[in-house]
Formats: sequence, structure tokens, C-alpha cells
Amino acid sequence: MIFRTKPSRTARPALRRVRTTVAPRPLRHRLDPARVEEIPFRAGDGVRLGLTRVDSGDPGRPAVLLLHGHTASADMFLLPETRNLVDVLLDDGYEPWLLDWRGSSRLPYNETGRRYTYDDVALYDIPEAVAHIRQRIGDRPLFVVAHCIGSLTLALSLTAGLVPGLAGVVSQGVFLTPKLAGRTSLRMSVAGELMKSRIDHIPVDFRGVGLWSKYTPLFALASRGADCPDPTCQILHNSAWGSGASLFVHENLHRTTHDRLAELLGPAPLWILPHLRRIELARSVVRWNDTDLRYRALPPNALDAADRVDTPVLLLSGSENGLWLDSQRLCHEVLARRQPHLDVAYTEIPGYGHLDTFLGRGAALDVFGHILEFLGERR
Ligand SMILES: [Zn+2]
Repeated sequence: MIFRTKPSRTARPALRRVRTTVAPRPLRHRLDPARVEEIPFRAGDGVRLGLTRVDSGDPGRPAVLLLHGHTASADMFLLPETRNLVDVLLDDGYEPWLLDWRGSSRLPYNETGRRYTYDDVALYDIPEAVAHIRQRIGDRPLFVVAHCIGSLTLALSLTAGLVPGLAGVVSQGVFLTPKLAGRTSLRMSVAGELMKSRIDHIPVDFRGVGLWSKYTPLFALASRGADCPDPTCQILHNSAWGSGASLFVHENLHRTTHDRLAELLGPAPLWILPHLRRIELARSVVRWNDTDLRYRALPPNALDAADRVDTPVLLLSGSENGLWLDSQRLCHEVLARRQPHLDVAYTEIPGYGHLDTFLGRGAALDVFGHILEFLGERR
């Protein structure tokens, strides 16, 4: 066993202090700035997060909360270079809300400051955001569209009963039955060795790291057999932060998105891996904090508590998901067998990988229609 120690909040200070401010870096979008309301917002435990509402001018619309994946940010739903999910939701009569939870690359916590586990996201970030939105929208319907770890942590919040009464949930990539690509699982053990070498996160921006650094071997490993010469693309597309998985189907990205990858996906903290490893071994979303009573509201095993899911769920996945493989199909099968009363559907997007289901230049055409159809039937 590589991971014997628990991630510690009092561990030695981060090695590379990139940002010291907790203010989120500015969003990049092409909306009218007057319509973008950035709300001063703190999670239930006081950590400063980002919460953004896009004003549609119509106060009666159903709201849709968007949850990004780990190391991504709300920017993934706002790409100026494509027809993005926020565009599509606005045009179809919804009010988009975007949460930058503590794993966002717009926030500093992946690189510096207070460490966390996914328990904190499920217990403090998502429920507080939902409560805040509810306060603002009253009894209008509230949907959630969640990607990757945003969806996995939402699964933990949902099965804890912390976000009751949602109108529906769209989950992309992974939900209650995480299954990581084989090489990913193997290389997660390598991370323990990296941590011993005083590397505490995997950067993605080669320009920020320099040619000769302790990270050079990681980039060299990722470049093996790569078709694309861009080192940031290599470490994400070819190696998913050194894990060996693949995050997207290369040709599905717009050239501009491709060249912005280092901005759209930040460094991955290695200290989160013990929790991810435990989740992977359990093939379920499991709580990290077993003895700390603050986390007792979370179920030890979310799949075992799936009967607490009280909202319709659409499980989405690209057919070529190179990180979570067929986790969503598996989730649909398991829930159909174990919890036949739940309203759970599965839709597979042919030719898509993981991130490109939202970042892809053709996502509005190939993916977002499925989301709108699901929301439209329940609004
Ligand atoms: Zn590339």
C-alpha cells in the first residue's frame, strides 16, 4: 500500500506559492458583463469560493447550476470560441448559475493554502451553493448539470440528503460507480513516490515550469508516442496529469480551446489521490473522513445510500471516455438492478471522450441537445 497516511491540513507548506489571494481570477466569456453577477460566496466551512449568476432578464426561469470538474473551472461552460452550454441554456429559457468549488483552477487551493478532500466539497461547497441559489430563486425549479468530480461529489451530497428536491441532475463522466482507466489506477501509485520527492502537484503549463525542473520527467513521459507537439496538450490528452489516461478526443477541440488548455485546466494536487484511490478501490463514492464527526452527515458509501437520490438523473458519457471508461453505463445497470424505483437514464455520445462533451467545438450539436431534452421534460 502506497497511501498509508491521511492528507493533513497541517502538512508542510506548499512548495511553489503561485497565488496568495483567494479572490477568483476573472472569468473569460463573451457575455455582456452587466449580465454576469459574481456573488461573494463562502462554503459552509468559510472557504471562499466563486458563485456566478447569468442574468437572463427574465426572473421566472428555472435555474441550472453547473459544476465543473476538478482543476477545471466555470470557464469550461463559457468558452467564447464555441457555442457553449451557457449560451444554449440562455437561448432555451433557463437561468445559468456557475459554482467554482474549491477544486477550481480560478481558486488557489490546488496549489497553495488549505488542503481538502472530496468530503469537503460534498459537505460544504455544493449544499451551500444550492441553499444560496434557492434563497434567490424561491420555488422555481433548480437543476444541476455536473461534470466529472463535480458530479462524483454531487452524488455524495445527494445520497447524504443535503440537496433535496432538485428538479433533475445531469451527470457527465462519472456518478456513483467510478471506474478509472487501468493505467490510471496503476500510475496513481506512482504519485506516492512523487510526493516523497517533494512534488505536491502536477502542473500542466510547461511554460510556467521551465525546461529543466523536477517536473521535466513527467512531461517527458507524457510526450512519448504523442501526435501533438504541445506539452500541455500531451500531459492532458496523452497522460491526464501523468496518470496515463486521456481527457479528450483531440480532433473534437477547437484550435483556440486547444491553445487555452493550460488556462482551462490547472495543476492537479497529489494530496487528493489517497481519497481518489480509496474511491477507486471501492468502485463507489466513499467518504474519506471516517472518524471526524464533522463529516458524519455523509454516507460511508454513496452507492449503498443510493435510495436517497430523490431526483431524476441523466447519466451522460462519451463513448470514448479515456478516464472513467464505461462508469456511467455501469452505474445505469447497477441502479436499474438495485434501485429500480429511481428515474435514471443513460445516454452515450458517440465519438466523444471526457472533457470534449463540454469543451468540444461541436458539443452544442452533439451533446447539449440531450441535456436540453432532459431538462425540458422536467421543467
Ligand atoms: Zn494537442
